[in-house]
Formats: sequence, structure tokens, C-alpha cells
Amino acid sequence: MEENKKKRYITQAINDEILSKLSLKNRYQFLNTNLMTVLEPPEFNFLKKAQKFCMRFEKKNDITHGPEEDVYEWIPKFGAEGFLTRAHPFEMIDLNYAEYGVTIEFMRSLALNFFDPQFNMAQGATVLAVNPIHEHHENIPIRLEILKKFVTGETPGAILITEPERGSDAVHMLTTCDEQDDGSFLLNGEKIYNTNAPKAGYVVAYATAEQNNGNTMAQFLIDTSWNGWKCERVYIPYVPKVWLGKETFTNLRVPKEYVLGGVGKGREHLFEGLVPERIGIAIDCISQCWNAITHASIYANNRRQFNQEILKFQGVGFLLTDLWARLMNVTLGILMFSKSYDSKVEKFGGTLPKNISQAMVASASQFKYHAAKLSAEICYESANLMGGAGVCDNTLMQDLLNISRIAEIIGGSRQIQTYVLSMAMRQLYKMSGI
Ligand SMILES: Cc1cc2nc3c(=O)[nH]c(=O)nc-3n(C[C@H](O)[C@H](O)[C@H](O)COP(=O)(O)OP(=O)(O)OC[C@H]3O[C@@H](n4cnc5c(N)ncnc54)[C@H](O)[C@@H]3O)c2cc1C
Repeated sequence: MEENKKKRYITQAINDEILSKLSLKNRYQFLNTNLMTVLEPPEFNFLKKAQKFCMRFEKKNDITHGPEEDVYEWIPKFGAEGFLTRAHPFEMIDLNYAEYGVTIEFMRSLALNFFDPQFNMAQGATVLAVNPIHEHHENIPIRLEILKKFVTGETPGAILITEPERGSDAVHMLTTCDEQDDGSFLLNGEKIYNTNAPKAGYVVAYATAEQNNGNTMAQFLIDTSWNGWKCERVYIPYVPKVWLGKETFTNLRVPKEYVLGGVGKGREHLFEGLVPERIGIAIDCISQCWNAITHASIYANNRRQFNQEILKFQGVGFLLTDLWARLMNVTLGILMFSKSYDSKVEKFGGTLPKNISQAMVASASQFKYHAAKLSAEICYESANLMGGAGVCDNTLMQDLLNISRIAEIIGGSRQIQTYVLSMAMRQLYKMSGI
């Protein structure tokens, strides 16, 4: 490696030749060679466009992905080029993206995850705040203004569902909202583990008129500069660059125009966001897997022991190809789901009817469950196959290994996904008329 170049590591452990083979450009090339037969030209072209932007950005800004870098500083630049979210065309805020939808989001996530997994995770959390405003802006100027700030990267966003005493049991909230005569609300209570909250200019939060009563939930947009908002950082060592928050609301007044869903609408809004959220997490997990397999494959094709490339030893090659085969199959499954989702959104003019969205809940849970489990396995085994090189600080494998440890918890734990699926299976059984 060049002597005066910035480095991400304390000491170089991997030799020059292999380390340079693990460059972003080479990893993208390996990914693209894998996907060229399965992607349609518009998807592949968008993937390559996003990759080109990431490569240029990395080079121009001398980014090493080392521990001192602040991923939040990169958000405005990615926003200006339209690489923060492509979930929608965003014509209401005059962006009119030509390429959009879940399939394009998949491509965006692949490109950004290879660039920097923690950056991609933080950005994914902003998208969770984008979706409800996109659905419920009602052309109210302040909502559109905030939506634009999120999408163009002026500020990150956050979604506040989880509470210190209500995690998996999210519909029995304790944070209260009291409606005032002028239509504003006073919020009191606590939230926790909210990705980006300490950095966010605005957040989307849920509260309830009556504690533990899911029928009285409401949904709010909050400006974090208001009185009554307090946010402390919860540090998650697996993702040291991502800032999570623990918030306290003390008589936090939310004006009427910031109420996205009044009392009784909250639960519906929460469930409406679940399909895109779970698919988004599944897509991020699959992107982590491709990044990990790509590292391991490049490494195993170059690292020699006993006078041979280690890929040629069955213990290495057969394990890596087993992971690779399973990853490709799930990738194809998510691609098919994404395309079907996009075509339904198109057919129904931009929003899915409630019954179709509900029918997709089981698929979204299946993918989230499966992809998170796969990420935990593939990131661990890929690092393992690289020996010391996989666990030292020389490459992004360190970030991938760590981020894969939280995949099963975020967006509903493994047990909650299987619980949702058990109920869905019961419903399907009844529908089968047996
Ligand atoms: C890195 C990270 C980012 C996050 N980002 C956000 C965010 O942006 N916004 C947000 O609102 N939240 C966020 N969360 C919170 C996350 O959604 C919750 O941590 C998760 O839903 C679990 O809640 P809990 O931590 O309270 O665990 P608990 O609900 O207390 O669960 C503890 C254990 O009990 C099990 N369990 C609970 N109930 C059942 C049941 N009925 N059947 C079987 N097992 C059960 C769980 O599976 C788990 O293993 C984030 C969490 C993490 C770690």
C-alpha cells in the first residue's frame, strides 16, 4: 500500500496484493458478474450508476471507512444525487425520480452496503420516517418540506416505536398523547433504541390516548428542536458509527399540522409501514451477505496455503459455495417479491389497497426472518473462512460481522416473526376450507 495514503487499520495484516484485490471496484465487479444474468437492464443500469457514485465519492473524499469517520457527514452529498431513497418517485416534492420502487431500492442498498454497511443502515432508518410522511402528507406544506429534507439529505430522520418497557409488544404503548382544544397534542413518555434519533432534525413517533390500548394510538411528526424533547445516545458497540436514541417527552406540544394520524389511526399507520420496513431490512441483510461472500470469495481465490489457493480445499470451497447457493436463491426470491410488489403499486396508482398489503405481511415476515438469519450465518462464516484476515480491522468484514449480530433484533425479533407467521399459517389453514 502507498505509504502516505490514509488507512482504516492500525497495522496492515493482509498482503498488498490481496488487500488491493478487495477494493470497492473489484467487489462491485464480482457482484455484477453474479447478477448480470438475473437483473433486467433498468435495474442493472441503476445499480451501476449508484456504484459509480460510491466509487467516485470514496476516492474523491479519501474515505477509508476507519473508526474516526462520521457516516452522517456523507448524507447531504448522497441526497443531492438521489441515492438516499428511491422508494417512490417523490413527484410531490418535485424530484420525479425516473427509477424507483422496491426493486430499485434493492439495487441502491447493494451499492451502498458494499460502500459502507453502517452508512447504509443509518440511511435505511431515515427511509422508515420517509414512508409515513409520503403516505400522509395531505399536501400540508410543513410535511412536504420535512419530506424533502429527508429525501435530499438535509437531515437524517428516525422512527420512534420502541419504548423502554414495550419492545416486541409495540401496540400496548405507555407514551401518552393528550389532545388540546386547538387540535394540538401534548406528549409524555419515553422511547428507546431509535436509529438516528440523536442526529435527526425531525422524527416520526407513536403515542396513545390511553395506555395499553392499541385502538387509541396516534402518529406524530416531531421537530427535535421543540421544548419537551430530550434525547440521549444509546451506544450499540456493534454499530459504533450509528447513533441510536433514548428519548423523553415532557409535555411536548405537537401542533395540529404535524399530526400524521389522529387518535385511532396510529395502529393502522404502524401496520401499513411494516411490509416495506421488513422487506427493507431483508434487502439490507441480503446486501450484507453479498458483501461478505464477495470478500470471502476474493480472499479464498487468492490466499494460498499448502501451495494452493484455499478455495480448492473442500473445507473452504464447499462451505463457501453452500452459502453462495443459498444466498443466490434468497436473492432471486426477494427480487421476485420486489417486482411483484412494484407492479401492484403501479397497478393501483401508487398505494397498495389494505387487503393486498395485509396479504403481503406473511411474505415480508418470511423474508425478514430468513434474510436476518442468513446474514448472521453468512457474515460469520465468511469472516471465519478468511481466518485472521476476516476478523482484523483491515477490511469491511469487521463491520459486516458486527452489523450481522443485530439483524435478527431490529424490525421485530426472530421470535416475533415466527409468531406472526404462526398466526398467518393458522389463517391460511382456515381459508383453505379443510
Ligand atoms: C440496532 C437497533 C436498531 C433499532 N432501531 C429502532 C428504530 O429505529 N425504531 C424503533 O422504534 N425501534 C428500534 N429498535 C428496537 C427494536 O425494534 C426492538 O429492540 C425489538 O423490537 C425488540 O424489543 P426489545 O428490545 O424491547 O426486546 P423484548 O421485546 O423485551 O424481547 C426480549 C426477548 O423476548 C422475546 N420475546 C418477546 N415477546 C415474545 C413472544 N411473544 N414470543 C416469543 N418471544 C418473545 C424476543 O424475541 C427477545 O428475544 C432497534 C433495536 C436495535 C438493537
